[in-house]
Amino acid sequence: MCGIVGYLGSQSAAQILIKGLHQLEYRGYDSAGIVLNTGQGKGFNLFKAKGKVANLEAAIPDEVMYQDHVTVSGIGHTRWATHGEPSVANAHPHVSMSGDVVLVHNGIIENYKELKDQLMDRGYTFQSQTDTEVLCNLIDLYYQQHGHDLRMAVMQALNKAIGAYAIVVMEQQDHAHVICARKASPLVIGIGEGNEEFFIGSDATPIVSYTHKVIYLDDEQVADVRLNHEVEILNLDQTLAQVDVKEVDLDISALTKGGFPHFMIKEIFDQPNCIENCMRGRLVHLEDGSYDVKLSALQNFKAKLIRARHVIIVACGTSWHAGLIGKQLIEEMCRIRVEVEYASEFRYRNPVIEKDDVVIAISQSGETADTLAAIQLAKEQGALVFGIVNGVGSSIARAADTGIYIHVGPEIGVASTKAFTGQVTVLTLLALALGRALGTLSEEKFQRTCHELMQIPAKMGEVLKQNEAICQLSAHFTYARNFLYLGRGYNYPVALEGALKLKEISYIHAEGYPAAEMKHGPIALVDEEMPIVFLATHHELYHKIISNMQEVQSRKGRILAIVTQGDEEISHIAQEVIEVPETLQALEPLLSVLPMQLLAYHVAVMKGLNVDMPRNLAKSVTVE
Ligand code: GLU
Repeated sequence: MCGIVGYLGSQSAAQILIKGLHQLEYRGYDSAGIVLNTGQGKGFNLFKAKGKVANLEAAIPDEVMYQDHVTVSGIGHTRWATHGEPSVANAHPHVSMSGDVVLVHNGIIENYKELKDQLMDRGYTFQSQTDTEVLCNLIDLYYQQHGHDLRMAVMQALNKAIGAYAIVVMEQQDHAHVICARKASPLVIGIGEGNEEFFIGSDATPIVSYTHKVIYLDDEQVADVRLNHEVEILNLDQTLAQVDVKEVDLDISALTKGGFPHFMIKEIFDQPNCIENCMRGRLVHLEDGSYDVKLSALQNFKAKLIRARHVIIVACGTSWHAGLIGKQLIEEMCRIRVEVEYASEFRYRNPVIEKDDVVIAISQSGETADTLAAIQLAKEQGALVFGIVNGVGSSIARAADTGIYIHVGPEIGVASTKAFTGQVTVLTLLALALGRALGTLSEEKFQRTCHELMQIPAKMGEVLKQNEAICQLSAHFTYARNFLYLGRGYNYPVALEGALKLKEISYIHAEGYPAAEMKHGPIALVDEEMPIVFLATHHELYHKIISNMQEVQSRKGRILAIVTQGDEEISHIAQEVIEVPETLQALEPLLSVLPMQLLAYHVAVMKGLNVDMPRNLAKSVTVE
């Protein structure tokens, strides 16, 4: 999720916050805001803007920007919308209804609806659609109940909140005091000389140019930061925790893009975390050890989804590949016929769409022009439109009847990586929930798949540990002018996606095929120059894919195989092997696509190409 900065001291806080927000821009965001409290009886001084930090900066008057020599607390935020569209009202900081408390938040409060209802019963009203404002008013409620004890109020509220958060909270009555807390979203506190200043950040980037003494908060810890005092750290049960001050010596230039040389590799490495965020509150591990999948889209449109006789998935590019995996998932688990269409073709060919059809539109940005046009057509014909997008409040999200956000955070690299795994995860959740509701998926298989899905982020981490090895073997392939990618079953769309990634950023011509199709044509291309990537993990078609591999071997093709950990057979056939952990067949794409992404990335970097902005491509294709 996005960026947080905080400051406590007597330098010019607005300048420090704005500089910090600029330093966090690499994370991507859709709006920004800051709040200051100088304790001079004027209340909170709040500034917010949609879009760039520069817009926010332009909205702050000089007398605020350059004010110093007064004690001030301030917090700033760059937001990436998860609940409510990008807008000034939804931007952070959020002030509580009473005006006493203000906060910024990174993450998602899963049970915000329930909490919001309870707060509304007590007379609270809301200015935004965010989950964050709910947390702010919940803190406010306890703040009023506990004689304006902010620390106690925050702890009590966090004991009620389910989800992920990094928060910084300020109170109107004390401008030398802030409370910070985290769970599953990082937060760092920098300590200035003699506790006369404090700097806060969602990572160390906005802190290190001021101080190298930092405290990294642990999960479910609350920090009480008061000017001229030692920082106190508490656990949520109010017991005191050890304060561990560390020395960081970070080169600020190494911190842009989170320490990675390109957005694409940062986003590849973000995936375990993104998939956890994507599943948060949706794949639920119950107290009795069993799993449940909770999707509000399914609850609200259950009857229509259950009645669907036919599903049509419309998408473009990488999203279309995710759609092909979705087809297999929905057909296998829900026994509903699924077609996957290029949105650009679908919209122009008078397709057959019936009233009981469900059209699933997949798009990272939610702005893809062809996909948007395709769903308009579907709506005219009376189909239910279900959106799977990353951009909250985007055109497709608004045009769809219902849907699921993938919640993987901003994707900046033009070649899509984490959005693909997010889309596949959401399609898996949808197939699981719908299959269970329809009774086409046995309870045993539902539980086993949920259990395995929960392990995917950790297994993705294991695949990513091979980055160095993949980098080294990529060096052997930079000479290539053509590549073939082959896979079967669930791995066939991954072969297509692997080929697309390579094409997009390395400009090497690559084609993906179902492995068995090779002998119907592409095998003619195979010679000792031709690298062929086989997705050959252990599944039903494993032995068949080994036969396909042997056909290539006998024509001297260079084989790079993606295999299941511990595979002994393929290393005798393939020149290069990359192992991925074992999982269920239906979940294999979530692991096997990672080596595809890394291979394309390293080949492109070795060729000296601009991986984040490949020639001729745009991130969001808003033209047809
Ligand atoms: N869930 C919050 C919102 O939608 C925070 C998003 C973020 O992490 O930037 O406002």
